[in-house]
Amino acid sequence: MYFKKLELVGFKSFCDKTTLHFEPGITAVVGPNGCGKSNIFDSIRWVLGEQSAKSLRGSEMQDVIFNGTDQKEPLGMAEVTLTFDNANRFFNYEAEEIAITRRLFRSGESEYCLNKSQVRLKDILDILLGTGVGAESYSIVAQGKIDLVLSSRPEDRRLVFDEASGITKYKSQKRETQRRLEETEQNLLRVNDIVVEVKRQIGRSSGSCISLRLKSRNY
Ligand code: ATP
Ligand code: MG
Repeated sequence: MYFKKLELVGFKSFCDKTTLHFEPGITAVVGPNGCGKSNIFDSIRWVLGEQSAKSLRGSEMQDVIFNGTDQKEPLGMAEVTLTFDNANRFFNYEAEEIAITRRLFRSGESEYCLNKSQVRLKDILDILLGTGVGAESYSIVAQGKIDLVLSSRPEDRRLVFDEASGITKYKSQKRETQRRLEETEQNLLRVNDIVVEVKRQIGRSSGSCISLRLKSRNY
């Protein structure tokens, strides 16, 4: 699986449109402290659906939008597009390339696109699940986070192995199905309540019919 290209505009320190082309082989990003190396890493995590501002080293999601410097005004939107090579159909999607785009406006409004068509975050996550690529997967390990794999907590290690063995996808489908079953159970409870209530009303109205009949007999 190859990353082909990463395009950033308005994301953290990348105020102007910046395109990074990844050639096959190892790519390393080198530069002095504070030049934006980790911001590139954050942008990849972000475009793959990261929902935690803290994981992106911010306090709220809007912190990823370029917030200006002495010379430049802050921007109103951050946009990142990550393009994968899909010639070998690594992703279960019929296209030679997959370009995932995420946009966030200062108003808080956000958008995701798959090959330029607007989609839901879930559609992106579905494509990524079980591939080892994704904000929560083992292929992205942040500065200082390598110890997750060596962590003594079995739960942490489990996450890595689940994703590597491809079962995260099924676990997520199981969770979704369980959630739907719970919803259905709740609906059934409500239907039951309604049936009980309607029966009670029928009972009451037939009771009043009887009393009406009794009254008419007395006449
Ligand atoms: P190190 O070598 O210390 O790990 P680095 O190359 O990883 O450094 P980053 O952490 O990627 O550096 O970049 C930090 C820079 O990004 C800081 O100068 C910070 O001001 C800038 N920055 C972060 N968020 C924004 C933002 N929203 N708008 C503008 N600049 C930002
Ligand atoms: Mg860094």
